[in-house]
Amino acid sequence: MRLSAAEPEPYPASYYAATRNEAMEFPALCADVRSDICVVGAGFTGIATALTLAERGYSVTVLEQHRVGWGASGRSGGQMLGGLPGEAALQKYWGQSRADALFELGYRGHDIIAQRVLKYGIECDLTYGAIDVARRPRHVERLKRMHEALCARGMEGQLRLVTAVDLPELIGTDKYLGGLVNTRNGHLHPLNLCLGEARAAVGLGVTVYECSEVTAIEHGPQVLVRTAQGSVRADSVVLAGNGYQHLEPAVLAGMVFPAGSYIVATEPLEFAEAAQINPDSLAVCDMNEVPDYFRFSADRRLLFGGRCSYSGREPRNIEKAMLPRLRDIYPQLSLKQVDYAWGGKIGIVVNRVPLMGRIGPNVFYALGYSGHGVSLSHAFAELLADAIQGDSEKMDIFASIPHRKIPLGKKFGSQIVALGMLYYRLRDLL
Ligand SMILES: Cc1cc2nc3c(=O)[nH]c(=O)nc-3n(C[C@H](O)[C@H](O)[C@H](O)COP(=O)(O)OP(=O)(O)OC[C@H]3O[C@@H](n4cnc5c(N)ncnc54)[C@H](O)[C@@H]3O)c2cc1C
Repeated sequence: MRLSAAEPEPYPASYYAATRNEAMEFPALCADVRSDICVVGAGFTGIATALTLAERGYSVTVLEQHRVGWGASGRSGGQMLGGLPGEAALQKYWGQSRADALFELGYRGHDIIAQRVLKYGIECDLTYGAIDVARRPRHVERLKRMHEALCARGMEGQLRLVTAVDLPELIGTDKYLGGLVNTRNGHLHPLNLCLGEARAAVGLGVTVYECSEVTAIEHGPQVLVRTAQGSVRADSVVLAGNGYQHLEPAVLAGMVFPAGSYIVATEPLEFAEAAQINPDSLAVCDMNEVPDYFRFSADRRLLFGGRCSYSGREPRNIEKAMLPRLRDIYPQLSLKQVDYAWGGKIGIVVNRVPLMGRIGPNVFYALGYSGHGVSLSHAFAELLADAIQGDSEKMDIFASIPHRKIPLGKKFGSQIVALGMLYYRLRDLL
């Protein structure tokens, strides 16, 4: 039984929520407690940070306003993609040599996930193999450059540059002009990964409270984190609320805009149909600024996502909004029923470089992975844990990158975001 009068907002009616392995529920915080670390937000960033810190011997309390994995982490496309978003900005501020030195960070999350799946026996359908696909001739050129750059960093054994001729056999469609297969990338059931990591964290002594929205943070040598019915006093605090976060507005307001992204899941395909469309079960992502992304679930549903509505307004009918593009790419699936449709908020940063840093000496934050958070949140969680332990070298590199704020006030915020979206759509059309 919950200890709070407030009911948690349920998971969205997604394929993931319908197939989650864990039925764990956690109480609401109704007391004043003490902990080494307090983490705000129970998505990948929050849970992975809590687990890393618990593995290192800290006592950790996690406060989540709804349920574990309720946010983007439990709704995502599940594509485990490498690389640091915002490469152009990174090279500008870091220079080529430092950008090279931090290249492996863009894949560090993959290793953390693989190790945890093994160590804690997390069943999350982890499958390797992904492909970036070109929609326009300039994307083909970019694919070639990506291939070259990744080969130069020692990944040639995990890459295959393919042409339009290869694609019908590889991904069952002739809509793309080329692709880059990357077997280091992959896909997984994101909610089951998040819940599995939460179970592992609890096993190491982490305390999780759901239905516990953090309403205020009082800074000091010990930070006081308040919810409606309780508080946590902690030596350090981690803000991990991503696109759903409103705390510390003086520093974080307008740094990330919450862009909507939507996914439909078809009914399961027959084995033969699935084998014809995507025999290697690759995660597919196109190279538009506002990409389409799709893959099979473990039970052979096509999970087809895309169309970020940067306007912040949810489409009235997600299925209707998504189906024309799914059918354009896979006309052979036109008669398939859609069983689930849902959306969530991606935290996008203007220059695409994720935000990480600290406010005062002991309040840390990481957010805004610009659509790459499945893997990157795990790498950043490790950097947060390092910083809390006193090694903030890598975190400080990210913290030093200048970011532009978006004036996302109540009055004009959504119009400004919609304008930004229009800009990206026009770029995609060129
Ligand atoms: C539809 C969709 C598809 C995506 N597809 C992919 C993909 O294929 N690959 C990829 O790499 N990334 C993808 N992403 C992005 C990825 O899911 C995110 O980058 C990642 O999950 C971010 O994790 P997080 O823990 O930082 O944030 P979230 O998972 O959003 O978690 C933040 C949590 O903080 C809680 N919270 C916020 N404020 C408070 C507060 N005051 N008190 C208590 N709790 C609070 C929220 O309730 C939420 O549960 C997708 C996102 C969406 C929405």
